[in-house]
Amino acid sequence: MSFKGKTVLVTGAGSGIGLAIARAFAREGARVLVHDVRDASRLAEELGGVYLQADLADPEGVEALGRRGAEMGVDILVNNAGFQHIAPVEEFPLATWQKMLQVMLTAPFQLTRALLPGMKGRGWGRILNIASIHALVASPFKSAYISAKHGLVGLTRAVALEAGPFGITVNAIAPAYVRTPLVEGQIRDQAKTLGIPPEEVVEKVFLAQAAVRRLIEPEEVAELALFLASEKASAITGAVFPIDLGWTAR
Ligand code: NAP
Repeated sequence: MSFKGKTVLVTGAGSGIGLAIARAFAREGARVLVHDVRDASRLAEELGGVYLQADLADPEGVEALGRRGAEMGVDILVNNAGFQHIAPVEEFPLATWQKMLQVMLTAPFQLTRALLPGMKGRGWGRILNIASIHALVASPFKSAYISAKHGLVGLTRAVALEAGPFGITVNAIAPAYVRTPLVEGQIRDQAKTLGIPPEEVVEKVFLAQAAVRRLIEPEEVAELALFLASEKASAITGAVFPIDLGWTAR
């Protein structure tokens, strides 16, 4: 699968799933625009790409990132950056809710809006939204995350319909628990809260719904992203792909 000559913008590329996706596209010959809120210039250098800093919680920062991306001719946009906050809905801080919706739903909309005209002009494009299994089902205490991710699936479908005639596909990936710093933090927190070892938290809490009883590796998500961005997937659009160990088979 060669992506030579293609430019890919991956948000939140400094860690976890975004890092694996950025590495995979670089390996396949793409020029990678490595976005993150924290300095990832060494990673960008390692991948032969370019580091773009922006805080996606700041709408102005996202607009500036979109302008840079448009100037650099982004062919493939991977909306990946995200974070989790766990609290009962009646205790959920409004500011945190708004930040989560901004980073995980509004920023993908802003970047899509900024980069679609260039893709249309070139007659080719790919938008991949990293959603979550929580874009399809719910769990308690994750109301903002679940709302943002369900919204991201709506954005995926709506833009797919508008962009399809221009050779552009728009799809979402919906992973269950992937072994990343985000999930490792959650495992540590739950181990403390429940007073049990981390391995038991993984087995009893994180894999409670799983048929395949292990965490997903970030590289597995990256391989699906590569396929969806490839020519072979040009008939696939407006779709949501679970990679969830069988979670939603129940
Ligand atoms: P991660 O390792 O924490 O990586 C997330 C990246 O997004 C980090 O580099 C983070 O930067 C960046 N980010 C967070 N807030 C940002 C902001 N305001 N502006 C710019 N960048 C920001 O998490 P991950 O597990 O790889 O998650 C990546 C995506 O996959 C997320 O959208 C997540 O919801 C989704 N997902 C993950 C799992 C899972 O099990 N891991 C499952 C389903 C879906 P900092 O580290 O500096 O904050």
